[in-house]
Amino acid sequence: MDNLGIPEIFVDILLGALKGGLATILLLLLGDFVSTFAYHVPEHVFGHFHCIVHHGKNRSFIHYAVLTRNPLVVLDGFLGAVPYFIFIPWLWQLSPGGTLLGLAFGEFHVVWRHVTALGWVTPQGVQWLCERLWLTTPERHWVHHENGNLAYGDIFTFYDQPAKRWLRWLRLVKRSYRQWRLSASSSVVSHSP
Ligand SMILES: [Zn+2]
Ligand SMILES: [Zn+2]
Repeated sequence: MDNLGIPEIFVDILLGALKGGLATILLLLLGDFVSTFAYHVPEHVFGHFHCIVHHGKNRSFIHYAVLTRNPLVVLDGFLGAVPYFIFIPWLWQLSPGGTLLGLAFGEFHVVWRHVTALGWVTPQGVQWLCERLWLTTPERHWVHHENGNLAYGDIFTFYDQPAKRWLRWLRLVKRSYRQWRLSASSSVVSHSP
């Protein structure tokens, strides 16, 4: 075997692993970012669809984890997942394996973060690890299910604070728009003969 071949193979493997890891992390980071700020938070302010479908009380684990064939649940799950899909063509060029791993982890996390509905409790060691990695645990996600003002960031907890600011700002926009429409319509009434 050529002596120079071994380090080259080693470098290739290392580079491949680095690219794969980068593609996985980028897919999850970017996907959760766009999903939170472009779909999840705006839906809580302007829409009712996500709240009715995903925050309805007394639904099953199968329902929350989007493992059902109910078209409304599948649609909400799909809209939340599109932000991950849009990065596939770009990240595929970096690493197909890493992109697939990111998608698989995203799907695993959707299912896992709803196990509270089954009465499961996350082991202490996993809780500890998730805290260090800023990963959303099922317990933390359940806080969001019970109160739509709290615990944003489906996968990463560090999106919670900016998401809450985004939520407050969008609510302000909604209120200002309503007041503007109300005052516009009342001035039309007062000016009418
Ligand atoms: Zn949920
Ligand atoms: Zn929500």
